[in-house]
Parts: sequence; C-alpha cells; structure tokens
Amino acid sequence: MEAIGKANVADLKLADQYGPLINGEIVEAANGYFDSVNAATGEVLAQLGRGGKEDVDKAVEAARAAFPSWASTSIEERSILLNKIAEVLEENQDRLKLIECMDTGRAIHEFDLDYQLAINQFRYFAGAILTHYQGDSRPVDNGYLITKKEPLGVCAQIIPWNVPMIMTSFKLAPALAAGNTIVLKPAEDACISVIEFGKLLSDILPPGVVNMVPGYGNEAGQALIDHPDIDKLAFTGSVEVGRLVGRTAGDRILPVTLELGGKAPHIIFPDVDIETAVENATLGYTFFNGESCILGTRLFIHDDIYDEFVDKLIERAKEIKIGPPTDRSTRLASLINEKQGKRVLNYFEIARNEGAKILYGGNRVTVPGHEHGYFIEPTIIEAESHMRIAQEEIFGPAATVTRWSDIDEVVKAANEVDYGLAAGIMTDNMENGLAVANRMEAGSVWINSYFNFQTGAPFGGYKNSGVGREYSKEALDSYSQSKTIVAAYKRPPYGTFL
Ligand code: NAD
Repeated sequence: MEAIGKANVADLKLADQYGPLINGEIVEAANGYFDSVNAATGEVLAQLGRGGKEDVDKAVEAARAAFPSWASTSIEERSILLNKIAEVLEENQDRLKLIECMDTGRAIHEFDLDYQLAINQFRYFAGAILTHYQGDSRPVDNGYLITKKEPLGVCAQIIPWNVPMIMTSFKLAPALAAGNTIVLKPAEDACISVIEFGKLLSDILPPGVVNMVPGYGNEAGQALIDHPDIDKLAFTGSVEVGRLVGRTAGDRILPVTLELGGKAPHIIFPDVDIETAVENATLGYTFFNGESCILGTRLFIHDDIYDEFVDKLIERAKEIKIGPPTDRSTRLASLINEKQGKRVLNYFEIARNEGAKILYGGNRVTVPGHEHGYFIEPTIIEAESHMRIAQEEIFGPAATVTRWSDIDEVVKAANEVDYGLAAGIMTDNMENGLAVANRMEAGSVWINSYFNFQTGAPFGGYKNSGVGREYSKEALDSYSQSKTIVAAYKRPPYGTFL
C-alpha cells in the first residue's frame, strides 16, 4: 500500500459508531459515545462506545452463556477455527493495518510485523492445542491416574493502545484455544481495528465466545475487573494499573497475567561491526515509534568504540524519515496523542535538569497536513544509568547512551532497573554473549538481533515488567487449570485412617 491520502479514509468504510460487541453483534452503548480520532490529523474516524457497568454486565452474561458449549467443543474443532481466524486476519490485513495506522499514528510499514506476529499467534495456538492439551493417563494400583486440562471460564482481558492487533492476538489466541470465553476491553485511544476484527470473528466463532467492550479505563476497564463473574484477569499496560488489577485478582483469588512496562538495556561489545550494530541499536529504540515496552532504550557502549559508535548513531538518526503515518517510506510518525507527546518532551526536560546531555533530537517536528500529531525526533541522550531518563519508561523514540569498560559493572548497571522485560547484546563472541545473556534479569534476551521474535518463545517480564508469559505454550497453561482423577476399580480394603 503506497502513500495514502485522506481520500482513502473514506474507502475504509468505517462504521459511524463502534459500540460493544456482544453475542456477535455490535449493540448500542448504554452510556453514549466519544470521538476516536486519527492520531496524526485529529480527524474524527468514528464514535466509540463509552462502555460502563451495564455493557460489561451484558458482555459477561453472554460470555458465561457461551462457555459450556465452547469449553466442550473438541480441541480438533477449536484448532480448525483458530486456523480460520488466522486466514481471515490475513485476508483482511491491509484494511485493518491502515485503520490501525491512522488510529495509532504509527508508520504503516511497521504493521507488517504487527500483523505477521498476530497471524502467527492464531496458527501457533491452533497447533499447540493439539500437542499440549491432550492430558495424560497411566495405570496405578487397581485403576488409572488421569491428568487433564480444563479451561478457566470467562476471561477478562484489557489491552493498551500501542500495538492493538499484537495485543489482541496475544490475549485471544491462547484463551480461545484453551476453551475459555472472553470479554476484551481495547484501549480508548486505538480501538477500531480491534472491533472490526471482532466483527470478522462473529462469522467464525459461536455467539458470545468473544465479546468486546470499548471505553475508558476507569469506566469500562474498572467495571470489567470488578465484575463478580470473571474467572481470570489478563492485563497489558502500565505498572500503575497493573498493580490495581493484581490487587483485585489477589482479593478474589483469581489467576492473573500482567504484562507491564519495560526499559531494556542493550549492551554493545567492542568486537562488533559498528555499522551493523548501529543499525540494530537504531531499530531497537525507534521501532513502534518508540512506543513499546520492549525497546532497547538503554544503550551501554564499550569505551573502545563509544565515540565512533555514538557519532554513527547520530548520523543514522538524522537519516530517519519522519513523515505521514500512511506513507510507506516513513520510519517515524506521530505519537498516539498530545498527552503522550508532552510526556515525552517533558522527559527531555527532566534529562537536561538532571545533567544528562541531549546529543541529538529532543524536539517536536511539524509534518505538513498533520499538525495535530506529535512527531518527535529520534533522540540520543548521554546519561548515567541511574538517572531518571535511563530508568523510567519514556514511550517515545529516545535512547540513552552510557560508556562501559568492565563487564561485571555493565551487567550490574544493566540490571539496576525496576523492569525486566527484554535485553539486547551485540558481540562477535558468542561465549561472551551467552554468558551475559544468562546474567540478564529479563524475560527475553536478543543477541545480535533486537526484536528477534520467535513464535512460541515465552514472552513476559521479570520484576515490575509483570507476571506470567504469553506468546508460548505457557500461555495455554495460564488459561487453563489441571485436574487429577484417580480412578480405582474398587475401594481398597483399608481406608486412610485405618
Ligand atoms: P494504561 O495502563 O493506562 O492502560 C492500559 C489499558 O488499561 C487500557 O485499555 C486502559 O483503558 C485500561 N485501564 C486504565 N485504567 C484502568 C482501570 N482502573 N481498570 C481497568 N482498566 C484500566 O497503559 P497505557 O498508557 O494505555 O499503555 C502504555 C503502557 O502499557 C506502558 O507502560 C507499556 O509499557 C505497557 N505495555 C506493556 C506491554 C507488555 O507486553 N509488557 C505491551 C504494550 C504496552
């Protein structure tokens, strides 16, 4: 899809309103609607339902009613349906990518990766359910021991705005595969592609298996986590709201998965090919517009190559094309909204005030015809690793650069952060690479290739980055419970207390 002007927005044939999706149909939102805008232009794309308790009650009721039948659908049938979902997502991806591009403000070319990951998720769990969900049985004295997996019931799932279809697939695919029914709350800032996908699901899945309630976090989201008839909470978003979801799960003894923030170190050894390493590091801090929890935003560069590396990093940053999100050649586009834009710019101010040095970038850029958007230059900041700019999640295209010379010290500094979602290492010496990878306090470590996602590899965080793993068969376990049945042909002649 080449450069797309505003005219093509009409071709998307968006609905005027996106109310809750309940029992396979879009219904009226009980509390009215609010505008969903194009992040870069401010143009109103559609009206989103302002979900609340009433909508959530209906959605949970639909999911509860659909559960017995979906839970007893054979795993072969569920596998077929998950493959069908992958197929339909693939067929509709161009339209959904464009919707998501306008909704989020991210550059259109990035969505090739998003949708590949999302499609893979459904295919992966279509397969995993057949091999990982069979249960087991073995003879014991006088009978059999049977262990089996059962779904949990109705799952409440809440996702953020940065990568809507990746998040939707991470949540829906394992939960559906395991036989659960779902109420999903997409983020208020980027929701349309998710509900459009939900409409496509209605032609594949029985009514009530997947329900969606759009709306604000403190209304629709809060009503969902507070609902008494939920069997599992799954949340991706900020640490602050994650704590709230975790507390609710604790109070009600509900299983919970939390995917929270990140602030990943990327350690560069002196033996690297500098051009390649700069390219990899640049991808690592700028992809997803910098709005992702997995970005490698804390660059630790060996003293021997520091000056040359940083010069080349700056040269590379200057070449990055900032432009309209819908232009295929754009590499950095608009942040999600003004609040996020101001937050990112404020972090640059914090960096200056704490003595860090902005080596390149740090400014908002105006893209003609897209004055509403917050386009931010790729920004490189020389900082000490304890500074706030090197410790807190910025969620914008910015990286700190810090020198290192001692391996133990750099490992310590890299790990001295509240998060532990991802880490990167670049070296020509795999012995060094693996030794450091083993010492990283992070759920995913990429050596020589940042974002090297492999389908089925567990994804999730250490420390404040969360609880549990997605993207892998561990996710199936987190959406199911195990049952042990010991079946004796006849009662033994003695009882436990005799
Ligand atoms: P957020 O926590 O504000 O919102 C996330 C979701 O939670 C939204 O749908 C929101 O409506 C909902 N929500 C907000 N308040 C709620 C409440 N009281 N009850 C229930 N739901 C509520 O986060 P955000 O600003 O939208 O997203 C950015 C954050 O998400 C970043 O911190 C980022 O690191 C994190 N994130 C993590 C991952 C991961 O896999 N670890 C992936 C993407 C984003």
